[in-house]
Amino acid sequence: MRRRIAEAKRLVVKVGSALVTNGGQGLAPDAIAGWARQIARLRAEGREIALVSSGAIAAGMQRLGLATRPQTMHELQAAAAVGQMGLAQTYESCFSEHGLVTAQVLLTHEDLADRKRYLNARSTLVTLLELGVVPVINENDTVVTDEIKFGDNDTLGALVANLIEADALIILTDQDGLFSADPRSNPGARLISAGRADDASFEAMAGGAGSSIAKGGMITKVRAAQRAARSGAHTLIASGREADALLRLAHGEEVGTLLYATATPLAARKQWLADHLQLAGSLHLDAGAVRALQEGRSLLPIGVVAVDGDFERGAAVACRSPGGKEVARGLVNYSANEARRIARHPTSEIEAILGYFDEDVLVHRDNMVLL
Ligand code: GLU
Repeated sequence: MRRRIAEAKRLVVKVGSALVTNGGQGLAPDAIAGWARQIARLRAEGREIALVSSGAIAAGMQRLGLATRPQTMHELQAAAAVGQMGLAQTYESCFSEHGLVTAQVLLTHEDLADRKRYLNARSTLVTLLELGVVPVINENDTVVTDEIKFGDNDTLGALVANLIEADALIILTDQDGLFSADPRSNPGARLISAGRADDASFEAMAGGAGSSIAKGGMITKVRAAQRAARSGAHTLIASGREADALLRLAHGEEVGTLLYATATPLAARKQWLADHLQLAGSLHLDAGAVRALQEGRSLLPIGVVAVDGDFERGAAVACRSPGGKEVARGLVNYSANEARRIARHPTSEIEAILGYFDEDVLVHRDNMVLL
């Protein structure tokens, strides 16, 4: 089972506040240097890593001279805004020691629920990974407070795994993994080494659906694993306190808890596309484009003869054969008006027609399901 992790090419690594700060008081540059070193090693092995890191509030508290965590949400948000500068600065300098460039990405859950923003975030992150950059992602705490309230970025980690179709999500924390019962009150509690992410009994072990959600507690991690599994990503929950914890996990060592997905990322994504899409319009294809799609290729504007409907970039559209039959559906990269203008034209003319160039295909094959 752990071989799946050793073979995972695209990883989301989430480190909680406890692992990048000195007991919640200011950043721990040595710890951050350790994450950068391990991630640099994994990159050198040809693996792509998106890092989700908390720690902004803790860093901000120190910069503002606050000894205790503020009570009000607006003070916490202000501390996060201050601390994010230090967090980004520290990661940037630690990664540069290894010749790696970083990018700061601040996201909200709503960003990813909106299809247009989802596509934009996805293409930015995938491009960064292809460029060899390490994206350092945090919640945009200025505009939302979900992770401040509940998660310490566990959910965000899962959303990023969904977004970039990661093979695995590694949640590093200060606990050894998921236990069969709370180890603090049950001496007989045993560490779960592996199980299906969708096994409902894990929620109860992690504290149960009805329990109050401790911020960053095990329940948010189990739910993050369920969410990640829906897009085919396996989740590891393990202690980040051990030496080389990330390297050992990424190399398939049996530490922590593996909650595995049962579908592959691509199959899971296509299932999601098939199940969830409300069609906003239709693209009418010529016979050549229908053939190209059926051979597994993306839809180019030149293969589209007409466009029905009024839709935005990111909307779900039907791709129809000359006879009107729906042959595929997918997320479209251009709005209806733009699609009408570039239809029947080669990709090389998109920029001249629209005055800008977004993507070279109208519907990418990864965002499309054939019917
Ligand atoms: N996004 C927050 C941070 O980076 C979450 C962690 C927290 O609530 O302490 O600081």
